[in-house]
This record gives sequence, C-alpha cells and structure tokens, in this order.
Amino acid sequence: MGTYNPEQAMCNIRREFGEHGGVVPSISRSSTFTVMDPAVMPEIFEGHLGPEQGGCFLYSRHFNPTVNVLARYLAAMVGTESAICTSSGMSAISCTLLQLCQKGDHIVASDTIYGGTHALFNDLFPRMGITTTFVDPSDSDNFEKARTGKTKVFYTETMGNPTLKISDIPTLADTAHQNDIRLVVDNTFTPMMVTPAKLGADVVVNSLTKFINGASDMIAGAVCGSKEFIHQLMDLHTGCVMLLGPTLDPRVAFDVIQRLPHLGIRMREHSRRAQAIAERLQERGAPVCYPGLPGHPQHDRLTAMLNEGYGYGGMMTIDCKTRDKAEALMNELQNRQRFGLIAVSLGYFDTLMSCSGSSTSSEISMQEQEQMGLSPGLIRLAIGYTGDLKDRILQIEKAVEAVGLV
Ligand code: PLP
Repeated sequence: MGTYNPEQAMCNIRREFGEHGGVVPSISRSSTFTVMDPAVMPEIFEGHLGPEQGGCFLYSRHFNPTVNVLARYLAAMVGTESAICTSSGMSAISCTLLQLCQKGDHIVASDTIYGGTHALFNDLFPRMGITTTFVDPSDSDNFEKARTGKTKVFYTETMGNPTLKISDIPTLADTAHQNDIRLVVDNTFTPMMVTPAKLGADVVVNSLTKFINGASDMIAGAVCGSKEFIHQLMDLHTGCVMLLGPTLDPRVAFDVIQRLPHLGIRMREHSRRAQAIAERLQERGAPVCYPGLPGHPQHDRLTAMLNEGYGYGGMMTIDCKTRDKAEALMNELQNRQRFGLIAVSLGYFDTLMSCSGSSTSSEISMQEQEQMGLSPGLIRLAIGYTGDLKDRILQIEKAVEAVGLV
C-alpha cells in the first residue's frame, strides 16, 4: 500500500484566507503589481526577490497570488516540493518535456497514453529533433531495453489511457535513476489514489480538467516537482512555462481551489460505484476491464501502490470488439437507459463515455492501436456518482443485454 495521505497533507499547509478574513480565498486578477521601491525591480525580475523571498509579485504570467495558492495546495496533495499551474494538461506535459529534452535527446514512453500526448511525441517532437520509442508499460523491462545513451526521460501514465494498464512506478524510477534518466508520470486518472512522487517519480503532470476539478467546466493543468525544476520552468531566459506562456487564469485557479477539498470524497465515490458496476458486469459475463477486479492483469501492482481508502478509481472499459457495436451500446446507454453521456473527457459527476479508437486515441495509427491492445470497439467509461447505484446497475445491465453483449 502507498502510505501518503493527500487530504491530510493539504490540511497541514498554511491555509489561505480571503480579504477581511474570508473563509474563501480572494481572487487576485491584476495582471501587473505595483513595486514600491524601484531599486528592487531587477531582483524581483530575476526571481531573487519574489513573493516567497519577502519581495512582491510582478506580473501574472510570472506568478499570480491566486494561481500560487492553487499551486501550493497541489504540491501538498501530490507530495512534491513545488508546483506550477498551466492553462491545460497538454501545456503541462509539453512544457515539462521541452524543459527536460533538447535536440538529439530521446524519450522512452508508454504506448498506452492519451492520444494528444502520443501525437506530441510521435508527430511534433521529431520536428524539434526529439525522438521517442513507445513500449508496453505492463513489463517495466521494456523501458530498460528501449533505453539508449541519449535517453533523458521515461514517460508513463499511472493508469494508461484508455487501456487501463498500470505502470510499476517504483521499478521505473529505479531503472531511470540508475541511468541518470528522469521519470515523468501523468497521474490524471488516479489523483489522490496514487502518489507517484512518493514512489520515485521526478515530475508529476496532471490535467486539472478531469477528476481534480470535477465539474467539466474548464481546462487547466499542473506540473509538480522539485523547487529547482519549477524554477527552471520559470527561468526568464530558458523557462518553457515562462516563455511559451501557458498561464492559468486566476478565476479558473480559484474555481479549482474551491473543489480540491472534496476531491477525496469524490474519488471514493467514483471508485465505489465503478467497483460495484464492474463486479456486476463481470458476473453477467460482459467484457469489462476494471483495475479493481482481481482478474485485471495489474490488479496486484496497483493495489501495492494505492493510498488507503480511495479504491481503484472511476475508469473502466467495455470491449465491444467493433465500432458499430460500441456505438450501439453507447446509444443505448445514453438515449434509452440514460446511464451517462457520450462525451470525451472524464472525472465528471455524470458518467462520460466514448469509443477511444475513433476519438481520444484517434491520433494513434490503427496498427499502433492494435499493438497497444486497443480494439476499435473499446468504450472507455468514466463512472460518475449521480443517481441511485442500484438503478444505474440495472440500466447498464439492460443496455448490454439489448446489444447482445451478454
Ligand atoms: N493526460 C490525460 C491522461 C488525458 O486524458 C488528457 C486529456 O484527455 C490530457 C492529459 C490532456 O489534458 P487537457 O485536455 O487538460 O489538456
């Protein structure tokens, strides 16, 4: 079992009150800040006298008081020294990798990752002279075998999108560190449940758009890591967040701050319902994949990494084999049974479902989809927590019966 307690960690750090003692933090929307003593401006600019060093804020693409509050809470939750927020999960990922890799460098990445990240590595990075070898993360040795003298980063998702393969983070971290390689982990599917930084990951990236925000009403991301790495991202001359500029709006940061305190409760409920639905589907003989089922190939591996009490998460898949069958099932689930909504993304209070091969993984070629074990009929479901669980189970049973899956 993982031993980190992310909810307690967030309570242990300095609480941010609003103006006039508000229980809710204030939103600081100013793009620029008044410097009282002109002589200190250069030091503030160079980052030697920022708000953390007794100086002041300067400009909101650099640091903003409200966005900094969110970053502090996220660092505590993720178990890292520091964090920086970005305007999307993709910008968190791309800035991290561009900071760590230069022309001529090599990445070994899991082959079962979000389609946008796959495209970034496979299609965009080669234009900058950065190459990637994709490997099956079920076997950690694959990373070691694919490593070259130029490898700078091992990249994986704790729970791979969309196949739900689980990476062995402690083993990957050991192999990486023996070879002076950084391990970067996307923990978007498993916030609070798994704490990759405590298992050896050097940098943890998150899309805040999903479970962490939980209301499907905004796009945001975060990079969590050492103080030194976050400083590098904000360097005036070479910092990828500073210079590529994916700044998070303080109003959006405020909304996420307000939702962090109930992330733990939400994750437990996503997990409780997904577990019950998956068990019932399995009993009925439906082709369900859920990491909380003992038959999942990496069930024990995930169990060993989980923090106590959060369960196995809200993500599951049903493999209908063909796209036609998958579309029939999603139609039945949304338009007849009202079980959930056909929409990409995840972590909402209602169930969201999509056929990954033709949506969020469509950037990946059919041949590679086959290699990574993604069938054209795979539906990814992000189980929500609205409605009565017994009714929800009946709805999904009726839907799988209606399309002849059981
Ligand atoms: N990481 C994972 C695992 C995702 O599923 C996604 C988006 O679906 C992203 C990153 C990108 O996040 P965003 O849409 O916030 O840029």
